[in-house]
Amino acid sequence: MANQSTNKLMDKIVSLAKRRGFIFQSSEIYGGLNSCYDYGPLGVELKKNVKELWWKSMVYERDDVEGVDASILMHPRVWEASGHVEGFTDPLIDCKICKSRFREDKIDTSKPCPVCGNRDSFTEARSFNLMFKTFMGPVEDSANVVYLRPETAQGIFTNFHNVREAARQKLPFGIAQIGKAFRNEITPGNFTFRTREFEQMEMQFFVKPGEDEKWFEYWMQTRMNWYERLGLKKSKLRFHEHGPDELAHYAKAAFDIEYEFPFDWQEIEGIHNRTDFDLGRHAQYSGKNMNYFDEQAQGKYIPYVIETSIGCDRSVLTTIIDAYEEEEERVVMRFAPSIAPIKAAILPLVKKDGMPELALKIRDDLQGNYRVFYDESGAIGRRYRRQDEAGTPFCITVDNETMENNTVTLRYRDSMKQERIAASQIKTYLADKLKF
Ligand code: ATP
Repeated sequence: MANQSTNKLMDKIVSLAKRRGFIFQSSEIYGGLNSCYDYGPLGVELKKNVKELWWKSMVYERDDVEGVDASILMHPRVWEASGHVEGFTDPLIDCKICKSRFREDKIDTSKPCPVCGNRDSFTEARSFNLMFKTFMGPVEDSANVVYLRPETAQGIFTNFHNVREAARQKLPFGIAQIGKAFRNEITPGNFTFRTREFEQMEMQFFVKPGEDEKWFEYWMQTRMNWYERLGLKKSKLRFHEHGPDELAHYAKAAFDIEYEFPFDWQEIEGIHNRTDFDLGRHAQYSGKNMNYFDEQAQGKYIPYVIETSIGCDRSVLTTIIDAYEEEEERVVMRFAPSIAPIKAAILPLVKKDGMPELALKIRDDLQGNYRVFYDESGAIGRRYRRQDEAGTPFCITVDNETMENNTVTLRYRDSMKQERIAASQIKTYLADKLKF
């Protein structure tokens, strides 16, 4: 559980995130909006790279997963069918003394209130629906209520036949989506770990009933392997199996992939065997046929669904925490090169003798392919440190020798080692190092 030193570590990470332009508090000049965040210049690149890496592994590298981008607002009946109107609730309790609110399932109510320290001060639990409501059109009445989607999955289920027919897919196949979701969380917190607006990266894999357990196993392993590609430390990842008390009513099996955050082991992704619950419910509520005709088996059935559901913002936070390292003379963000916001910094040793011109030529040659950064101000050591803190894996320095033989100094972020390579080799070299 969180103690002073883990809080200190999170404080340092939050402060670096702001200072270096990874993540800012939303609406900061107005005092901020609780649990909403904005990504700055480095954060937006990091997040884009995480999304691309997910999309690449889930869609581009296979031929059995198609993409979709569904709208956030959906027909309100969708949320009745999915069970969210009735059951997407958390148990809310209040402290009668200090009025703080908690999720009953996240604290130990036999202990004193964690905010004011009073004992036996909690109210009975009440169910609190986490969906944000708004109105469609000018009239604000119950007939016009729509919801901001609390998950992206339903836009996949409702498009099952559309995607299958348009892409001429046969079972087993999946549909992937990246998009915003909204939950009116009772206790948001730990920076971007739990927010009220966030992005999800979800994939629903449709399979023949009876083949679901095999595919569940497959996706568990495939998804765990992805985190190694993301560069996370293996020792900080583990599976957590949902016991009978934790299992959602529709799920036959569920595993979370957890990461050891400074505050605790916590979920970053859920892998669920959702059976035929979702398509079955949409068939019931929409009156449309959600069966799949299996040519091989010459029969019809409602497919089972294996879901992999990961929070994009939560995984970006995980990469930031995992990358953060304090050394004696520097703070270094050890992002995997493939997700690093800036791939290379180009630095003329001094601002004279033709070095800036040559360095700018190298920069021009690289940008367009990669996010690179040109910096000519300050001592070279300080410029290296600035790049270490931004997580830039390579620095390319144009120096006196460059002017003589057209070689540059290549400096590695992780080892701080330096070597000389021909300027003409930079592009090939980076292409090799930055492969996903
Ligand atoms: P929890 O029990 O922590 O509320 P959950 O089990 O409801 O989470 P899912 O519905 O399985 O979460 O959502 C899938 C993923 O979406 C989670 O693993 C997480 O990465 C992300 N996610 C869910 N809620 C939030 C949130 N409020 N803020 C940021 N990411 C979230």
